[in-house]
Amino acid sequence: MKKTLLVILAAAGAALAQQAQDPDFARLVKEWTTRPEFISPLVDHLPKANGIPSPKDVLGYYVGTPKKLTHVADLLRYYRALESASKRVKILPAGTTDEGREQVVVAISDQDTLRNLETYKGDLAKLADPRGLSADQAKQIVAQAKPIYMFTGGLHSAETGPPEMLMELAYRLAAEDGPLFDQIRRNLIVMIAPVLEPDGRDRYVDWYYRHKINEETEADSVGGPPYWGKYIYHDNNRDINYSQITMRNWLKFYLEWHPPIMHDLHESVPFMYTFSGQAPQNPTLDPILYAELPWLSNFEMTKMFGYGMPGVWDHGYVDMWSPGYLGFMSSNHNGMLRMYETFGNGGANTMKRIVAPEPGSGPPGANQTTREWYRPLPPYKEVVWSMRNNTNYMETGVLSALEIASGYAKTLLQNFYEKSRNSIQSGSTEAPFGYVLPAGQPDMTRVAFIVNILRLQGIEVGRANSEVKLKEGAFPAGSLIVKLNQPYGRLAKILLEKQVYPDQNLRTYDDAAWTMGLMSYAEVQEISDKAILEVPVQPVDTLSVPGSIQGTGSLLAVLHNGSNSLVTLRYRLRDVKFEAVEQPFKSGDTEIPAGSFLIQSTPRARSEIENLGLKAVALSAAPSVPRHDVDLPRLAMFSTWGSTQDVGWVRYAFDHFEIKYDLIYKERIRQGNLRASYDVIVIPNQGRGSAKSIVFDVASKGKPIDYTKSAEFPSLGAYGESSDITGGMGLEGVVELDKFAKSGGVLITLGASSFLPAEFGLTTTIDAQRASPQFYAPGPIVEAEITQPSNPIFYGYSQKTVPVRYANGPLLRVPQDDRKKEVLMRFPGTEKSVLSGLMRGVAEIRDRPAIVDVPSGRGRVLMFSTNPCYRWQNLGEFNMLANAILHFNDVPKSSSSATAE
Ligand SMILES: [Zn+2]
Repeated sequence: MKKTLLVILAAAGAALAQQAQDPDFARLVKEWTTRPEFISPLVDHLPKANGIPSPKDVLGYYVGTPKKLTHVADLLRYYRALESASKRVKILPAGTTDEGREQVVVAISDQDTLRNLETYKGDLAKLADPRGLSADQAKQIVAQAKPIYMFTGGLHSAETGPPEMLMELAYRLAAEDGPLFDQIRRNLIVMIAPVLEPDGRDRYVDWYYRHKINEETEADSVGGPPYWGKYIYHDNNRDINYSQITMRNWLKFYLEWHPPIMHDLHESVPFMYTFSGQAPQNPTLDPILYAELPWLSNFEMTKMFGYGMPGVWDHGYVDMWSPGYLGFMSSNHNGMLRMYETFGNGGANTMKRIVAPEPGSGPPGANQTTREWYRPLPPYKEVVWSMRNNTNYMETGVLSALEIASGYAKTLLQNFYEKSRNSIQSGSTEAPFGYVLPAGQPDMTRVAFIVNILRLQGIEVGRANSEVKLKEGAFPAGSLIVKLNQPYGRLAKILLEKQVYPDQNLRTYDDAAWTMGLMSYAEVQEISDKAILEVPVQPVDTLSVPGSIQGTGSLLAVLHNGSNSLVTLRYRLRDVKFEAVEQPFKSGDTEIPAGSFLIQSTPRARSEIENLGLKAVALSAAPSVPRHDVDLPRLAMFSTWGSTQDVGWVRYAFDHFEIKYDLIYKERIRQGNLRASYDVIVIPNQGRGSAKSIVFDVASKGKPIDYTKSAEFPSLGAYGESSDITGGMGLEGVVELDKFAKSGGVLITLGASSFLPAEFGLTTTIDAQRASPQFYAPGPIVEAEITQPSNPIFYGYSQKTVPVRYANGPLLRVPQDDRKKEVLMRFPGTEKSVLSGLMRGVAEIRDRPAIVDVPSGRGRVLMFSTNPCYRWQNLGEFNMLANAILHFNDVPKSSSSATAE
């Protein structure tokens, strides 16, 4: 009997060591991998595990099968099947997207760990906020805690591989035996966000099956669908203020679970780039982070070179300056953002790819096939690449990452604790010690915007109960106080401070500046007086600004103090007569600024004013200052089909502020007779920085490209439909825009779209030029001077100079004789006028117009070289656009020949 038992145990041991394998997987994966060196022993096989379904068991195909992409519902169907079969898998809810799709995170660990998930969650919460923990207590928590290592894929919908790979990863983590997998399951809690942008994933997969599945070469490619998610396409990775619901849900999840590592999987460069946090680095983040990043990326390179996989590199691409990328929610909160870019074909077809750029194309460093110290085994210049190659690289990388993370789990936890502790400590030892957003600012709605974004980020904000006296000055009771001796104090500093760019010679991957006070035109005072840490405050959960109405009388003067809620009020009361005063006047002690509205006092008006946080004064009679009706225009917003992203930000802002508009495309423009339908057409920044790219848009390759909804492709045709998105408005469209303006319409162009009227002759007197190649301005905040303060677009702006985000729009030139009447705002263009971030070659913008208003027949063209609606950030500038819409037919005679109609 004893002997028999031993035999059985031995057999079981052998079974453990030799887990049954899926021979079809091994054979097919070998076939789909285009070169023998593009695979590793980690992913060349797939074990069978009794009762635990592999992706193929549920979906009918292996991950990496050519010409197979998986819709969101099927991804979730797989994870749910895995969860119900394995006690090592648990699905956590994370919210609902714009279009109503489910957001989930899949947790995988050993059975015991998952059973005690709430305990581990509590441990990480304590390490994330270690206030009150002694060093010994912290040590004890580190000893018992387990780090969450969270993978995220599918933020960018054209980057199709990660959501596929993650299913296979989940299966291996749940089902594969062996020391590596035991160590990972024992020491880590792996979390997987299967797809960060579910709406875009479904739209892209539909598009792939409709248009891309038969593509054989790069030259064949039709590009992507006009939309991914609802509004902002690729910029879902630049949504620094978390405007988008889907992205906001991920931040909420992060702040609930505190994963010390978040690893965001992207696709672009060959064959795999693993982020190491290069310069320019934000110096406010912890030095430990900057040591951790190359530690891990170098380990992955080491392992992958060991497997003989070429083309892995970890420097010379993305830097650590801007905090606005989605995955930076982790670094920003004392965790660690990791990132891959794996090579992909924008679908699931196997294709020959030319990887080395043509000589002379692209900036220096664009060639990713050269040998460098950080790329000792470079990618090949030409390669046949497959979806399975992509899976092999990424999965080998993440398994190597999990190998080192599970081997050093306690180090990672200790680091997480130390980064959190250091953030609190540096806020009490190094100036600045805090920020004050003073109460009593003319428009508190923009103060509330900042405070509520800080709150969303988990930053503590307090309200002072009484007057606060600091070296920097006295601030009234009710002022908002941000103390930096808190776990996310460093993030508060990063968001609120002026960005001092560390080295003029360094380029950065995205924006150089984002200072919230400058962007929002709200006063934010940096405080170096340590006494701020002792100011008694009431914690603020969400800051709401109640409106106020003083006095009694049948007429209300609603103060124009720059609030973006004013345009909302106008639209909410669209059936009510509104007038605007053209000059300031006084009512008692209250100064009523130019641009303030006059409306009849009704219960509905009063309640909207209060809801919107506006200020009004009741008058018994109309003031004796000039005034005009505030009519609402019939408004359209033009979008190309090929470049909807920046239009999406304006759509988002208009929707948020309840501005009503039609979204129109080339089809409506070409139809003509625009003036019969519209008073104002806004052309947001779009295209590839040239007027031609707006006019001719998506190139036709001889066959129509259809973006319409159908039973087979239900996610297409959203936000606009076209039976052929190619060709652009063409010259005939330009003629229609010209007719529109000449017959009394107002054409408003933002940012690079202002090249269009200048270069296609809608404004024959205005030239649009480009800066020299030496000029470099990655979104700094610069000063602009208002040259015509009485123009209605500046209602609510009381300063002569204002901060604007530099948009790299055209350098406009207006004939000398017309400048006085046509230039509304200009750039001083001095070193001193760069307020935050980097502008190299500032003299090139010296005295250039920032906004011009040019008559055209009976109408006019209002050209912004700035972009007053940039990524839900520069809300201080937005009012210029709102005013331009509300006062479209009220331009002073001196600055235009347009007549009110
Ligand atoms: Zn990406």
